[in-house]
Amino acid sequence: MNKHQIVIIGAGTGGITVAAQLLNKNKNLDVAIVDPKETHDYQPAWTLVGADTYDMEKTKRPQKDFIPNGAKWIREYVTAIDADNNQIELKNGDHLSYDYLVVAPGLVNDLDGVEGLSEALQTDSVCSNYIDPEKTREVLKNFKGGNALFTQPTTPIKCGGAPQKIMYLAADYFRKNKLSDKTQVTFATPGSVIFGVKVFADELLRVIDKYKINVKFHLQLYKIDGQAKKAYYKLSESKQVVAEKEINAFDTNVEFIDDKTVALPYDMLHLAPPQKAPEFVSNSKIAHAEGGNKGWANVNKHSLQNPDFPNVFAVGDVAALPTAKTGAAVRKQAPVVVDNLLKLIAGNTADNKDYQGYSSCPLITGYGKMLLAEFGYDNKRMSDPLISTFVDTTKEKYSMWLLKKYALPFMYWNFMLKGKA
Ligand SMILES: Cc1cc2nc3c(=O)[nH]c(=O)nc-3n(C[C@H](O)[C@H](O)[C@H](O)COP(=O)(O)OP(=O)(O)OC[C@H]3O[C@@H](n4cnc5c(N)ncnc54)[C@H](O)[C@@H]3O)c2cc1C
Repeated sequence: MNKHQIVIIGAGTGGITVAAQLLNKNKNLDVAIVDPKETHDYQPAWTLVGADTYDMEKTKRPQKDFIPNGAKWIREYVTAIDADNNQIELKNGDHLSYDYLVVAPGLVNDLDGVEGLSEALQTDSVCSNYIDPEKTREVLKNFKGGNALFTQPTTPIKCGGAPQKIMYLAADYFRKNKLSDKTQVTFATPGSVIFGVKVFADELLRVIDKYKINVKFHLQLYKIDGQAKKAYYKLSESKQVVAEKEINAFDTNVEFIDDKTVALPYDMLHLAPPQKAPEFVSNSKIAHAEGGNKGWANVNKHSLQNPDFPNVFAVGDVAALPTAKTGAAVRKQAPVVVDNLLKLIAGNTADNKDYQGYSSCPLITGYGKMLLAEFGYDNKRMSDPLISTFVDTTKEKYSMWLLKKYALPFMYWNFMLKGKA
């Protein structure tokens, strides 16, 4: 059986960043990265692709260009983690053993999590930037007015702001294309607030008002009928209670099935699909076995170390952390994981507990406009000192749009994936 000192599962944002930082610190480390995918995706730009302001090809680059020098790339799927024996199993039947394991396979879209979702995605009016941003672009281009419904599931999702960003871009697109007068944009969410941090929520509510978006809270998507073009929701509270809490009271578009079930008709629907941890993680002992985090990788929320297997760490979307799952979060998690691994290798304790839940969400509010929401655990606002010295990131700004469209992708490919940011 082959063995490596450090095995990293996944060559996405988390896996490559950790590998590059490790080898920058010590080029003699024996690092293997396991991932079958030949391309590396810059997923944050998929929102812009969906809104027809970025090329899909530019979001994909050959993975071989980002595997750091000195790391061994094993092009295989991982099918199981046997943490008791410090081994992983690969799809080709091979086993690989490790001294230290970094789990970074991201998450998977769960198309079975909503009844009728797979079928609805085959129709011309349902799209998702999480699955095929180029289809979103086509759905928007073909939209002639009517109900434009934007929604998200009850599961955790990556980049929690993404379902809203494409909605604001779509609302701006409808305005530019003189479709606003014959379009009702609706946002249906299981949440009870538009954004967890008040200062950003206030600005978003102003944007929502400007576009006359109808926001519906407490709606839990459970079924889509792609032929009838209706999305079905359970109400988390009764009709009366929800009606009182609504920004906009129930309008004529809402069809009540019973006191706790509604259907929303749509002419176009954009959704974030339900999302979950990959099965080889949820079936392993490194995952939470019970509770709200069931299936996601179990880690200490400050050190990213697994509490049962101290030689195992998780980074990125797969980790059960009470903060938003983003690439920006990975940027702050990776140095903590790297420092703790190097400490363990040197025979010391993994006592770096610096990760405070930092995550950020570049909230695009229209073409040429963005605000930058940065926060940590308990929805505490956190700001990059460099940016916030010069710009009020709580207000929609053109400079922030330039950051999103040009500066962040450049930083990602040239610095973050090289372990330098
Ligand atoms: C539409 C959209 C918009 C977003 N917008 C933003 C944004 O504006 N800002 C931001 O910071 N983040 C954004 N994100 C989120 C960001 O892309 C992710 O949070 C980030 O990529 C997570 O990194 P990761 O390493 O955990 O997973 P990923 O980058 O997804 O990488 C996972 C890797 O693991 C590999 N893998 C999976 N299963 C296996 C297996 N069984 N064996 C081996 N390898 C495996 C995959 O092939 C992949 O290469 C957005 C995401 C989407 C979809």
